[in-house]
Amino acid sequence: MECFWNQDAVWVPVRYFSALLDKYTVYSFSYNAGSGEFTIEESNVNITGVRLSARENGTLIDVYAVKKFSEREVTLDIRNNWLHIDIYGARVDTASIGSVPPGGIISQIRAFQLDETASLSFKLKKEVVAKDLVMDLDGNDFHVNLRTKEVIAENFEREKLKHELEEQKKRWRIDTIVLDAGHGGKDPGAVGYSKTREKDLVLPMALMLGKMIQDKLPDVSVIYTRKKDVFIPLWQRTKIANDVGAKLFISIHCNSNVSSRPTGYETFFVSAEKDDKATDVVLKENAAIEFEGSQDRQRYEGVNFILATMLQSDNIKHSQFLASEVQNSLNSKLNKLGMNSRGVKQGPFWVLVGATMPNILVETGYISNKYEEKLLKKTTTQKKIAEGILSGIIKYKDEVEKAI
Ligand SMILES: [Zn+2]
Repeated sequence: MECFWNQDAVWVPVRYFSALLDKYTVYSFSYNAGSGEFTIEESNVNITGVRLSARENGTLIDVYAVKKFSEREVTLDIRNNWLHIDIYGARVDTASIGSVPPGGIISQIRAFQLDETASLSFKLKKEVVAKDLVMDLDGNDFHVNLRTKEVIAENFEREKLKHELEEQKKRWRIDTIVLDAGHGGKDPGAVGYSKTREKDLVLPMALMLGKMIQDKLPDVSVIYTRKKDVFIPLWQRTKIANDVGAKLFISIHCNSNVSSRPTGYETFFVSAEKDDKATDVVLKENAAIEFEGSQDRQRYEGVNFILATMLQSDNIKHSQFLASEVQNSLNSKLNKLGMNSRGVKQGPFWVLVGATMPNILVETGYISNKYEEKLLKKTTTQKKIAEGILSGIIKYKDEVEKAI
């Protein structure tokens, strides 16, 4: 039998038509000519859904999958205000994805099944300045993060602007500082040339610094993540700071190296990028999560890290400025002792990444070096370090509060 036209409709034999449907949908069709039965079955769907979440500077698309896709199998492309996510080897339930409600900067969602590739298309309401693909490390899902330009209001009212300025002032005025002595409890941190433990050196430095801040800046309240030798997960340290609405977060550490040669102190601010030379330090400090449970560890992985660094973008300039003031002040205190400045650096430190305020990590010197370990154990050196950080904080505070 051939195709024919009858009463405004084209009639196609089932055996041709089901082959077409097979190719372009995720259903599988079979026709039994003997019984006249036509069966439709769902087959091998491996992309099961999407979810959109609006963010202050963009939109996050979660793609749920029951199969693990590699980064190479997923391509992102923006053309004519549509974002296309093409997934090689995917089978998508086009109907269920098409019915996901739009959200964030996305006004329409469509899904297509094309042979070996599934294509998810999202109509964009705003210009996207960056798109990132993040694969889950231990699951099948993946995420596409779309960032938009900062929104600058064109028509503002005077009152609203005044209110915003007040809010800004409140936001940056330094009235609470959280001091974080690295490591503690079951996490000794680095172990020195003569077995000194990092956790035991950084605690007195933090306590001394806190006391100095309270003496010099009586209006500022000081909060410690730990005041004794206890273990605190990395994420909880910035949570403490976020919960009290701290304006600065300062994490204090000692450095180490497999070689006993490296020496000097350096100050870091957080960023998704890292300086090549910082990689060792980042790995070493991030290794503290080995002491945490697997649930805690997930907080630092994949999309969580990206989201956290997005929240940081406002603070990065302030953090960088604080880092350079602290590093300079340390220099004026420590170079007389023969300790050298290694400068200001950036890196993806998990202990900093959750902070919603400007934040730095100070590596006060190398305990793997015989001479520096000896120096760092001395209360007089610890005091100099605390004084250095304090004077950096004061310079930063004066500068920032002068500006608001
Ligand atoms: Zn450390």
